[in-house]
Amino acid sequence: MKLKDYRKKRDFEITPEPQGGGELQPSSGKPLAYVIQKHQASHLHYDFRLEWNGVLFSWAVPKGPSLDPSVKRLAMQVEDHPVEYGGFEGVIPEGEYGGGTVMVWDRGTWTPEVADVNAALEKGDLKFTLNGAKLKGSWVLVHTRGFGGGGKRSSWLLIKHRDRFASTKDITLEEPRSALTRRLLADIARDDGGNVEKAAAGDPPDLKKAKVGARASRPASSSSRKRVRSK
Ligand code: MN
Repeated sequence: MKLKDYRKKRDFEITPEPQGGGELQPSSGKPLAYVIQKHQASHLHYDFRLEWNGVLFSWAVPKGPSLDPSVKRLAMQVEDHPVEYGGFEGVIPEGEYGGGTVMVWDRGTWTPEVADVNAALEKGDLKFTLNGAKLKGSWVLVHTRGFGGGGKRSSWLLIKHRDRFASTKDITLEEPRSALTRRLLADIARDDGGNVEKAAAGDPPDLKKAKVGARASRPASSSSRKRVRSK
C-alpha cells in the first residue's frame, strides 16, 4: 500500500489527478520515468519525481533545479505518487490538497549511477543521470539534517554534478514552458478553468511584461494600419 498517503490526501470525486492503478512490481530492464511538475499551489514549487519500485518517489523543490553545481536546492521528500501522475497537467480545484495549476515542466528517463538504489535511498545519497527534454547529465540527491526540523517530511538537497550539461544559465527562467504542451502556467489555468492570475504569478516576470506590452501595443498598431491605409 505504497500509495496510501497519496490517496488519503485526495478526493478523487473532485480532483482530476489520477488515482493510480494497482501497484506494480519493480521494473527490470525497462527505462525508469523521470518528471518534474511545476506546481503553483499556495507556493510555487517544482515536484521532482523518479520512478522506483512501481511508484514515483517525489520531492518538492521550492526553487526548482539549478544547472550550477555550486548551487544546492532544497528538496523536501513528499508522499510517493502513482506512475500515471507523471502525465498529469491541469488544474487541481481550490480547496483540494495542492489546489492550483500543474505543468509537466520536464520529462524523460533516469538511470541510477549506483548498483543498489534502495540502499542509496536508505543511506540518503542517490547519484543518477537524467535524460529529460530540459535536464540532462549527472545529478545527486543528498539527505540532510540541516533543514525542516525532524518532521515526517525529510529534507534533501538536489545538486548538479560537474559535466558538459552543467551551466550557470537559469533554466527555470529561460525554459518556463510545458514539456508536454508548450503552455505557460497561465495558459493551463485558462484552458482548464483555474485561477489565471494566481497561475501567472508562477510564470517568469519578463514574459508577463511582454504579454502586457503586447496588449498595450494593439491600439498603436491599429492606428499605424490606419496611417498606412490613409496614404
Ligand atoms: Mn506539489
